[in-house]
Parts: sequence; C-alpha cells; structure tokens
Amino acid sequence: MLETVQLMDDSDRATAHEELRRDIALRERRPEGPPYTGQCHNCDAPLPPPMRWCDPDCRTDWSARQ
Ligand SMILES: [Zn+2]
Repeated sequence: MLETVQLMDDSDRATAHEELRRDIALRERRPEGPPYTGQCHNCDAPLPPPMRWCDPDCRTDWSARQ
C-alpha cells in the first residue's frame, strides 16, 4: 500500500484522494435518503451543504410523506 502511494505523483495522489472522498460521501449519504439539493426537501428553504432539511421537524414531515 505504501509502495503504491510512493509511485504516484502528486496529481495522481490528489485525484485518488478526491475519488475516495466522493465514494465515501456517496456511500454515507445513500442510506439516509435524498441528495443535497440546496433546499429543504420539506419546505424548500435554501440550506448550506450538506443539510437537506432545516430541522428534525422538516425531516420528520418529509419522511412521513415517503
Ligand atoms: Zn424545511
């Protein structure tokens, strides 16, 4: 594992790291429901990433409709 990393140049290492982070993010997000869209899934209020609902009440309301 260490030998493989040492053979890669900095750009390869950065790319691999980005892909790993994206994989982890996707894997962690999938079981929890919808992707981040910039808005609350319940009331469409604008939200900063990675929030998908304004608060637990909005999430509960949204879940009840699924
Ligand atoms: Zn909301």
